[in-house]
Amino acid sequence: MDLMYRSTRNAENRVTASQAILKGLAEDGGLFVPEQIPELGLSLDALAGLSYQETAYEVMKQFLTDYTEQELKDCIRSAYDEKFDTPEIAPIREADGAYYLELFHGATIAFKDMALSILPYLMTTAAKKNHEDREIVILTATSGDTGKAALAGFADVPGTRILVFYPKNGVSAVQEKQMVTQKGANTCVIGIRGNFDDAQSGVKRLFADAALGSALSDAGYRFSSANSINIGRLVPQIVYYVCAYGKLLKAGTIKAGDLINVVVPTGNFGNILAAYYAKCMGLPIGRLICASNENKVLFDFFRTGVYDRNREFVLTSSPSMDILISSNLERLIYRMAGDDAKENARLMAELSAKGSYTISEPMKQAAQDFTGGFATMKEVAAEIARLYGKTGYVIDTHTAVASRVYREYREQSGDGTPAVIASTASPYKFARSVMEAIDPKYAGMDDFALIDELSRISGTGVPGAIEEIRTAEVLHDKVIEKTQMEAAVRDFLGMR
Ligand SMILES: *Cc1c(COP(=O)(O)O)cnc(C)c1O
Repeated sequence: MDLMYRSTRNAENRVTASQAILKGLAEDGGLFVPEQIPELGLSLDALAGLSYQETAYEVMKQFLTDYTEQELKDCIRSAYDEKFDTPEIAPIREADGAYYLELFHGATIAFKDMALSILPYLMTTAAKKNHEDREIVILTATSGDTGKAALAGFADVPGTRILVFYPKNGVSAVQEKQMVTQKGANTCVIGIRGNFDDAQSGVKRLFADAALGSALSDAGYRFSSANSINIGRLVPQIVYYVCAYGKLLKAGTIKAGDLINVVVPTGNFGNILAAYYAKCMGLPIGRLICASNENKVLFDFFRTGVYDRNREFVLTSSPSMDILISSNLERLIYRMAGDDAKENARLMAELSAKGSYTISEPMKQAAQDFTGGFATMKEVAAEIARLYGKTGYVIDTHTAVASRVYREYREQSGDGTPAVIASTASPYKFARSVMEAIDPKYAGMDDFALIDELSRISGTGVPGAIEEIRTAEVLHDKVIEKTQMEAAVRDFLGMR
């Protein structure tokens, strides 16, 4: 029997995995969740012997039950190949007593590649399975990394087009250059005058616009999403936590059944939710440590049970986490409410009306596995410098948020459980912030000089993704108001 997915806002809305992937977001504005979280289905001991691709198959077959074995294996093989600069796909690096799970070895050197390398394959397979002959239009809001990873994944994929909206002044220089130089006849990248939440809310509104949806359908298109609201993004992210456990087993760091803690630099709550799902599958994870930057809505939420986005939006040195509305938290809220779509829908309606909601005491109890923490820009810079000084290992600003939060957690709690820190981006992607943290003398240097200097001091080669943009031509230079997003979509699709 197939594992079915239902909307977090309407229990009646049930679909298969491939339909959920095609749709992206449910029509009622909710997110698709599996009706139950499946079990891992193999012994922990067995994990130590599996490659990344084999682990991916073991995890994904439990969730995506309407894909055949051959379909899933084809998707996995096409996704996790030489696009990654190491056959390990997601290596672990020990530094100063913590285990940094490097998720940035893919085409665009951020962890979004882990899921977005496979999503185009899952999606085109889903279209075939469901006899969808309309062209799929991927509509994406990005805080910097999703955009490029989705563009790289979908560029020139037959039967798809992709449109990315990013906050014009809310991404790093490298992130912007990576996106605006994107090739591919089916791609479009647009800056908006607003922040990530504006971009994400705008995209969600376009999805929910029934009139636009039917005009789109008449023109032979349908929308889908490459954001982590798509379950097809979330499931591949569970894999690397399971794989990390296998690696620590193999290295003898832990024995089968031992707990690990997981520390995740968090924005939209997708990555840490995947770790939570891994735990629900039976992976021995102790604490899920949710690390925020100055936009610490989640830290406050886990402490008080009040989610309140009514606060100043801060632009930080970890821009991919500059988010006040963490979309995927809705999937946790739904679960904390005992899979109660009505209660979840009520809370989400409050969020959109007032910008805040408060969860009940029993719901709060259901989130006991999570610990929130946050780090300021100053603390992030100090952590990068500290770790480099002590070990020679250079981490990016997002990873440094998690690293700092972890050190503080460990000191205060005395919890010595081995900790896996999700290392979400290559330091090359945020070279300016990273280098200025290591030594203020770098302040005056230009971006590419900093990159070469980073290579020198860290003893690591400049990634191909960076070499590519050194001389690449800007192909997308459109900037619009946040009110013009629908017009931009119509324009791109030639619908007037
Ligand atoms: C997207 C991103 C995050 C946040 O991940 P979420 O799944 O949105 O919580 C953290 N770090 C980097 C580098 C990212 O690109």
